[in-house]
Amino acid sequence: MWGLMSQGGLAAILPLAAGVSLLLALLLAAAFHRGRAALAALVLGWLFVALGGVADVGWLLPTGQGMEAALVLTPWALLLVLSLTETPLLSGRGLGVVALLATFTLLAWLLPPAIWDQLWAWERWPASWIPGGMRAAVAWPMPGLSAWVAAVGLLWAGWRLWQRSDPVDGGLLVALAVAGCLPSLVLVGMSPWPWLLGAGVALLVSAGYASYRMAFLDALTGLPGRRLLDEQLARMGRHYALAMVDVDHFKPFNDRYGHDVGDQVLKLVASLLRRHFGRRAYRYGGEEFTVVFSGRSRRRAEERCEAFREAVAARELVLRSADRPPSKRQGKAKAGKAPPRKTVSVTLSIGLAEREPAQRSAEMVLKRADEALYAAKQAGRNRVAVAGRKPAKGRRKRAGKD
Ligand code: GH3
Ligand code: MG
Ligand code: MG
Repeated sequence: MWGLMSQGGLAAILPLAAGVSLLLALLLAAAFHRGRAALAALVLGWLFVALGGVADVGWLLPTGQGMEAALVLTPWALLLVLSLTETPLLSGRGLGVVALLATFTLLAWLLPPAIWDQLWAWERWPASWIPGGMRAAVAWPMPGLSAWVAAVGLLWAGWRLWQRSDPVDGGLLVALAVAGCLPSLVLVGMSPWPWLLGAGVALLVSAGYASYRMAFLDALTGLPGRRLLDEQLARMGRHYALAMVDVDHFKPFNDRYGHDVGDQVLKLVASLLRRHFGRRAYRYGGEEFTVVFSGRSRRRAEERCEAFREAVAARELVLRSADRPPSKRQGKAKAGKAPPRKTVSVTLSIGLAEREPAQRSAEMVLKRADEALYAAKQAGRNRVAVAGRKPAKGRRKRAGKD
């Protein structure tokens, strides 16, 4: 098949590598409960078998038309996988995809070859109305029916990736691109194995990366979580400082505006933390964050904490109308008049501690930062307190407000 398989060497290894990559993607994704990536690997595995990746395929799909059927139907199966919300492989939805593949297999056996020929002609159709001379000039095969189906999936997957940043959507995007291109590539006699290998690797990487994010990044804010902080603290050098950041009066804030507005505030604080401190900011837990400063300059760390505190205090979060508790006044507002924009803001207290020679573990430094945070709260909140130094008391003017 494809004139390459008999040549041995790389050509013999490629189908094997493609099969192994798809199998690994299936196993890893299933083990880490990334069911959609596992199902996509299963669908491409089905195509892999249909294309003759495993020597004798006659028992699964009828020779010839089986291959055509699999090439034509694969993008549809991937579209179904893309439409699912995350699901374990062995679930109702997962079994639904398996049932679809079984139905496709049955169709490949039962439908007369003429129908598959017709569908296969659709794969050639767009190329057929391109003038002969131009066709010869365009070396790249023209897209067919599968490519258009896959293109819809590509747009959808891209949109979902943009909305939810789930790496599995990235893996599905590559799988759909490969499934869309393959019929055209096979038509011009190109080997499908490197493409299937690429899709298998993409699914493997996306499932692996999704699992990494699940284990190490905080789900609400996307910041690295406690586990990565503990690892970082275990390998600190001799000179460093730690800051504990805590949102002021956050419990009453939640009680007043609701937990979902509270979540939005935590996301906002996290995005500002990322902007000010990059990968050095962690979500410690709840409404508390930790920033790690390596090196000697405690003064510089203090200035940066102060700048960050001011930036958060100056920042206003516009409430969406659904977030806003209805007020009596608003109820009486005239119809057609836009309700006034309502904004909320929060302040932070920060405790900063530099490692001292006597402190053997980072936990001790963290404890001192926590004590400094407590001192900042006692002194009136919305301020940075440094361990070993008394914070100035008194009410603070909110940055950006008079
Ligand atoms: P203080 O100024 O002394 O820090 O007062 P506080 O109210 O912020 O402190 P407290 O520890 O009493 O309350 C922390 C609150 O943070 C309680 C909890 O409802 C809220 N919180 C913790 N995690 C989350 C979260 O993930 N989302 C939301 N919306 N709220 C959270
Ligand atoms: Mg707290
Ligand atoms: Mg608090």
